[in-house]
Amino acid sequence: MKVDLGRDQPWHRLVAARPWLRMDATEGLCFDGAPLARLARAHGTPAWVYSASLLRGRLATLQGALAAGGVRADIRYAVKANDHLAVLTILRAGGAGADVTSAGEFGRARAAGIAPAQMVYSGVGKRDDEIEQALAAEIGQINVESAEELPVIAAIARRLGVVAPVALRVNPDIAAGGHDKISTGRAADKFGIDYDQAAALFRHAASLDGIVAVGFSTHIGSQIFAPAPFEAAYRRVLALVDGLAQEGFSLRRLDLGGGFGIPYDDGPGFALEAYAAMVARLMAGRDLELLIEPGRWLAGPAGILLTGVTRVKRTAQGRFVVLDAGMNDLLRPALYDAHHGAVPVSSAAAAGIGASATLVGPVCESSDRFGIYALPELGAGAAIAILDTGAYGAVMSSVYNGRPLAAQILLDGGRDHVIRARQSVPDLWQGEIVPDGLG
Ligand SMILES: *Cc1c(COP(=O)(O)O)cnc(C)c1O
Repeated sequence: MKVDLGRDQPWHRLVAARPWLRMDATEGLCFDGAPLARLARAHGTPAWVYSASLLRGRLATLQGALAAGGVRADIRYAVKANDHLAVLTILRAGGAGADVTSAGEFGRARAAGIAPAQMVYSGVGKRDDEIEQALAAEIGQINVESAEELPVIAAIARRLGVVAPVALRVNPDIAAGGHDKISTGRAADKFGIDYDQAAALFRHAASLDGIVAVGFSTHIGSQIFAPAPFEAAYRRVLALVDGLAQEGFSLRRLDLGGGFGIPYDDGPGFALEAYAAMVARLMAGRDLELLIEPGRWLAGPAGILLTGVTRVKRTAQGRFVVLDAGMNDLLRPALYDAHHGAVPVSSAAAAGIGASATLVGPVCESSDRFGIYALPELGAGAAIAILDTGAYGAVMSSVYNGRPLAAQILLDGGRDHVIRARQSVPDLWQGEIVPDGLG
């Protein structure tokens, strides 16, 4: 039987743009060589599937592009994008450190073998005990987000008898980022220190016992594709560096943040080479250690959400394809209006003529909706791969509506490892205590 692989269908462009996806005539959609139909049978749905080789490859590609552009920068992977210990272990083995924002992320990064010296601690709301724990472990850098935070860090460092290596996170007042909710470098955002205050605060930091002011950091948002907004932010930070240099302060380090975009459709990716060239140009002749904090770019394309069709429902408005994954699993569509590619797993189903369908989850919220897609006829039991969910996917999951956390699978060396078992229903109330006498 000749199978039409649906080359005219919209999903084909998504597959063609991703070398790690392939539609096989008999096996259906394969991710990093693994037939997703087999994974769905073996592990059930919904399930997150990650590729170890993609994670390794993306890290190596990023390192290679920076090196080829003449940029020496250490990578501090933003753990919040995907904090699974296996993911952290793979990236650590490839030479990445970590950017952490809580005791939980700090603990995870340590558990994955990342040395605190290779970590940056970010966040507007670090608690005293989190600061103390990080300093006691000799964290590589703490990014200070406010004038108010600085004396707290200094006092804790003095009490511990250590010196805290701090970078001041500057808010450069640059509008960037793929969505209002992922822009972080505008004056009205909660992040960082006002640009006008940053030099004075640096002078103050440099005068404090218990603090060594190593430099500045900046992170202007996420899902940014062009070098221009980064360049604008970095130039503003370098102007601070130069002003302080004239006063005799020599800054050692710049933390350039993360935010490199990934295409969720079949559009072009982040301009990595142009970014590296821009950084090399701006930093030429300067003796600055550089850090970058990518999250999404490393992990996003390395994962998919494998989900099953529970029901196909027709109303006067059209066709709803109800999936067994919902906003409790993947929150990005509800939170950011994000639109992820969706591809039928079976080649026979995929070959059908695409027609408009709304993909929704099972949760009792109207916002539990992945969006409108052109999809062929799909029956209950069909499987769909939701693409590019390796970052800001499983980390944002909840058990809302009594839905256990999905399984997580790692493809590595031709094997599929369960790296997190699907939660059971009794797991849902594990840890809950019902006092006596309630009935
Ligand atoms: C979220 C975040 C990152 C990573 O952002 P991506 O868009 O995933 O690269 C890096 N640094 C800081 C401070 C962040 O808050």
